[in-house]
Amino acid sequence: MKYEDYIGTECPRCLEIMKTYPALSRSDNSTYICSPCGTHEALEDFSGVGAIDKDLWPHIRRADRGISGVVASIQDFFKSIMSDTTSKGDK
Ligand SMILES: [Zn+2]
Repeated sequence: MKYEDYIGTECPRCLEIMKTYPALSRSDNSTYICSPCGTHEALEDFSGVGAIDKDLWPHIRRADRGISGVVASIQDFFKSIMSDTTSKGDK
């Protein structure tokens, strides 16, 4: 499958239809995922927890589809990191 052929197909990670060029998933380096998921994985990687395992896909609920859902899940993710840090500081 050619790179551009992925446009219009379903992202295996969030089940969203890919509207732009795909990103190579960091979870296995062989699966193409949508661009927002690629960004999400990069943030997961950057945060130190690593990209969510492929076995746990689809990672984003259908109710959260679209870029706003991805952004919200990234915000939740960072909130959870922040609250973890805060709770550790309280002890
Ligand atoms: Zn996706």
